[in-house]
Amino acid sequence: MRKPERKKKEYKPNTLAKRNDRIIVAILVFSLAFAVIIGRLAYLQLFKYEYYKTRATQIQVRETELTPKRGTIYDANMKVLAQSATVWTVFVSPAESKAEQNETVAVNLGQILDVDPSSIMEKLQKTESYYQVVKYQVEKPDADKVLAFVEENGIKGVNVIEDYKRYYPYGNFASTILGFCGTDGQGLAGLESYYDEELTGTVGRVISSKNGWGYEMGTDYEVLNEAKDGYSLRTTIDTTIQRYLEKHLKMAADENMVKEGAVGIVMNVKTGAILGMAVYPAFDPNDPYTLVNTDLYNSIMAISDDAERNERLSAARQKQWRNKAVNDLYEPGSVFKTITASAALDSGTCSLNSSFVCRGAITIEDTTIKCSQTGGHGAENFSQALINSCNPAFITIGQRMGKNLFYDYFYAFGLAEKTGIDLPGEQNSIYYTADTHTAVTLASSSFGQSNKITPIQMITAIATAVNGGNLVTPHLVDRLLDEDGNVVENIAPPVRRQVISEQTSRIIANILRQNVDNGNGGVAYVAGYRVGGKSGTSEKLDTPQKDDYIASFVGIAPADDPEIAILIFLDDPRGPNGYYGGPLSGSVVGALMGEILPYLGVEPSYSRGEQSKKITVSSIIDYTITDAAVKLQRSGLTIRIIGNGTKVVGQYPAYGQKLGLGSMVIAYTDSGEMTVAVPDLYGKTPSQVQTTLSGNNLNLAYDGTSSSQYVCVSQTPVAGEEVPLGTVVTVRYRPSGQ
Ligand SMILES: [Zn+2]
Repeated sequence: MRKPERKKKEYKPNTLAKRNDRIIVAILVFSLAFAVIIGRLAYLQLFKYEYYKTRATQIQVRETELTPKRGTIYDANMKVLAQSATVWTVFVSPAESKAEQNETVAVNLGQILDVDPSSIMEKLQKTESYYQVVKYQVEKPDADKVLAFVEENGIKGVNVIEDYKRYYPYGNFASTILGFCGTDGQGLAGLESYYDEELTGTVGRVISSKNGWGYEMGTDYEVLNEAKDGYSLRTTIDTTIQRYLEKHLKMAADENMVKEGAVGIVMNVKTGAILGMAVYPAFDPNDPYTLVNTDLYNSIMAISDDAERNERLSAARQKQWRNKAVNDLYEPGSVFKTITASAALDSGTCSLNSSFVCRGAITIEDTTIKCSQTGGHGAENFSQALINSCNPAFITIGQRMGKNLFYDYFYAFGLAEKTGIDLPGEQNSIYYTADTHTAVTLASSSFGQSNKITPIQMITAIATAVNGGNLVTPHLVDRLLDEDGNVVENIAPPVRRQVISEQTSRIIANILRQNVDNGNGGVAYVAGYRVGGKSGTSEKLDTPQKDDYIASFVGIAPADDPEIAILIFLDDPRGPNGYYGGPLSGSVVGALMGEILPYLGVEPSYSRGEQSKKITVSSIIDYTITDAAVKLQRSGLTIRIIGNGTKVVGQYPAYGQKLGLGSMVIAYTDSGEMTVAVPDLYGKTPSQVQTTLSGNNLNLAYDGTSSSQYVCVSQTPVAGEEVPLGTVVTVRYRPSGQ
């Protein structure tokens, strides 16, 4: 993270004078020696040589910077996430001001701009200076008041110039990705920093001159380089998915009382495009210096020692701007077993027929490593070893591979290098190589301890394991646009390399699905959507306290041809639900899959028996969000949470009602039942009907029609009718064109 303050150039401005009406930020006035003027303005020398030769000592050259407009940051659907708008900078030029006006200036500017008059007075004493900023980013009404004051009172040496201010219309939404800008417009974090050069554009310059009495000499003598506006970024962020992610992450973090925050990533596994990335708690980029944790802020403010207080405040700000998804390392724990399993199968070291015996512990040299199942898993095959998340079995798998092969795959999966994501400060992993592994580190690495990686490395490796075996580059920006929205450059990075075979990849995705369908990943189950996943609970071994854990879960879907992966990572949960990755983070992944997959238009598929299956809605009133999600998802329903609370206070449909498999139950965590106007479905294909209803929090009565050759011809309830969220809508289709 760069320091937020950048050294200011010493601007020596003139007066209001002429302004390019879009963009004059900084004005420099030089009173220079003859030779320098001529050097800069060869133009003038050629055409007005005689004239200048006689007048040069009385000439001042003024150089004016034209600030380009900073590019806009859009989401994938061209919704504005960050934008620059015109504001004004008010400054004084003590070298030009009249001492007898100082008092009036200080009092009046102080009042208009809400600035301490004594600080303005101090600036006015610097009589050598041409540029002392009174206030940056002044909005138009106040800038107008300043100008009126100057005009009415004949004030000298008070100036107002145009500048840009960065606005983030959705406040803390996606803030960790977007980053923010300093008062001088420079990007200081996130995409604003990574793409600062592209967003900034090129500064233009006007060089003009005036004579010693201040008369403008006319446009003949100006040299103009137009400013070039910055490029805009089209990100891969889908605002709808980002909203789902932030909502669920916040609820999970609050409910489980995480002490060190939470991370969530949603990735397109085929391209590496990041559809959503969130860090909780999130700051507001419009006001990045304010600590979101008010308790922390108050405790820092209570420190009496100035130096210590400032140091603590600065550290707390740096921490709130950190993107844990790319800036922090962790030991991934059992999620990593997916990678070990992929490597073992792909290298032929193991097959689906490989068998293992777990007696609850295994001893490597003088170190005994336990299985989470203290009694042991007994005999198990390869798939069962992964589904059981059996440490001794994975140690055996690692031993069979050996250090060299293990490290080769670790490297091939991109875990020994940065992913190359387009965010600043990406950390590289800390890992054992073939040369540095011992028998013990190889053993612990096989089940996900010892090596430290970033969450973005973990989800990228998982994407590789299930997408057909290709290592992708995670990225947030795929297009650079000019000011008219035309594509300047497509910068989506290509696939990097094939790591495992397509065949191996299919098998791994299928085992992950079995883990969700029948294993301990069941909390992420979403009927009809073929979710796969693996949980991880990692102990943080290098923190002062003993019992610090990270509860994580990676989900993929649909497992028969994966489109997306979701990683949820809760750092140091201290709540009533314990600290295990499966229940804590898996339930979040399941709830998210239940919202995102219908939104993306992924077709649910049910077996013949499932199609007609009706499920009785259970009561989830008074349940925590996690427990409610787990209960509904296990029964084959999905949950849609409305509100910001952590406990369910109302539900629709009510307990005892019957719904089709995969239908949603609305869980209210605040109060009240909400309604929605039923959308008009006429003419839509089955897939469009599904997406539209899901987006409106409505259920579809499943009738098995999925062909895109069919379109909706009637619906109940009719379009426009106000119904409770969660209402089941019945649709009739006809072949299109009939
Ligand atoms: Zn075991």
